[in-house]
Amino acid sequence: MKKVFILILAILATVWTARADEVEFRKGEERAKIQSVRQGELDYLLLNDLAAALGGQTSFDPLSQKALFTIGSHTLEITVFSPYVVLDKVTHNLSFPPIFDQGTFWLPAVTSAPVLEKMCGGRLFYSENEKVLRLEEAASNILDIHVSRKQNGTLLEIVTAEGLQAETYLSSPWLNVTLFGGRLVPSDFDGRSFPPLVTEVRAYQFDNSAQLAFRLARPIANYRQTLATDPFRVQVALEDTSRSADAFIPPPPPQKPKKPALAPIIRKIVVDAGHGGEDYGAIGKKKTREKDVVLDVSLKLKKILEADGRFDVIMTREEDVFIPLGDRTKIANDAGADLFISIHANANRKRHICGVTTYFLDVARNDEARALAVAENASIRFEQEEDEDFEAMDDLSFILLDMVQNEHQKESEELSKLIQRELADSLNIPDKGVDQAGFFVLNRAYMPAVLVETAFISNPNEEKLLRKKEFQEKIARGIYRGIQAFKTQVERQAP
Ligand SMILES: [Zn+2]
Repeated sequence: MKKVFILILAILATVWTARADEVEFRKGEERAKIQSVRQGELDYLLLNDLAAALGGQTSFDPLSQKALFTIGSHTLEITVFSPYVVLDKVTHNLSFPPIFDQGTFWLPAVTSAPVLEKMCGGRLFYSENEKVLRLEEAASNILDIHVSRKQNGTLLEIVTAEGLQAETYLSSPWLNVTLFGGRLVPSDFDGRSFPPLVTEVRAYQFDNSAQLAFRLARPIANYRQTLATDPFRVQVALEDTSRSADAFIPPPPPQKPKKPALAPIIRKIVVDAGHGGEDYGAIGKKKTREKDVVLDVSLKLKKILEADGRFDVIMTREEDVFIPLGDRTKIANDAGADLFISIHANANRKRHICGVTTYFLDVARNDEARALAVAENASIRFEQEEDEDFEAMDDLSFILLDMVQNEHQKESEELSKLIQRELADSLNIPDKGVDQAGFFVLNRAYMPAVLVETAFISNPNEEKLLRKKEFQEKIARGIYRGIQAFKTQVERQAP
């Protein structure tokens, strides 16, 4: 009898260990265990253990089939079988639905971490290799501001603890500097002034960036932003106008640098050059790399949009660096961007295939679009810490049937059509039309978002074209005209 009992215990133990793994939670010196299960190449973490580790509480309502997870003033609402979760009234897509098993929830670790970190005031990382969930509490990395007079202007410097990407734009009288990945304590900066030019500073902490807004006492002729090291700092050189130094023009009333709730105006454009760094994208026969040509086109588009004067441009990258797919839309969401334009070059094993296509996010309707999405989504494997074999995601696995984010889908389709029309008219290569597919990079954009496959780098003729500055300029101009047409259309419809 005793033997049988021990045997049953042993069997139970084996079954349990086979089912449940464990993940270690680390926060400073603190350690906790979180139960996990592996399903379909992903680790899922037990919600109740997550709550215990992160210092929150959970409840489940069987009637609505929803779980509520609260930490402090933050509430996350999780629905059975839906990858969409709602954090403080904002919808996020986990890409994969949570596992629901008899009243308990398991969340996909990799895609939940960026959402959960918004609840805990720090950065949350999940390492699949180490089975470690790490919370790094946020410390300020924006340290100080220096302003100094130079011969023909003023030099503004923001000292940071690490190298941060930044974007500067002027919305007179405010000069706004957005620091991606920046963390600051607003009260350290709010209300400071650097006479005579900077009369007031305001600081904002957003989810994934920080912004410093400088109120200028008078107009400036020009500004130029550079990054410097030793110590790390963002430098903005403000050039004096010849006459403004003596002619004082009172500034108009202050504006909040964030997007006004009024909308719909199309102003802030995120230009996303595909791939970068170790992710080369597609490569042509002559060794032309997609990451290089799309960066050239993107920088040209930035220049054209800025010259127009009605747009603020935010680049996801301006140099040859790798940016995870999810971060690209995060940059756009955090900036409250109005449009997201991702620029790529197409490839096909059949080298005769050629032409230009503009895509928006939806379930692919044909094999070609599906294959393309799988190829573009493969960038995600560069996000793994080690080059492990991460299967390319099938588009259906993250495009949702309930499509909460669909409010922008019609607009995305419209924008695709307008851009495609301009490109087809000007590029002199076949017009492959507008199509739809499950591009991961468009997945979490809460704004009209499109992906332009400018030409086929696998086609010898188009590879040659893609290397040419004039052709790159034509592409940029075509996309610009499409954006312009969309802006006109949207703003005309506005009440
Ligand atoms: Zn690409």
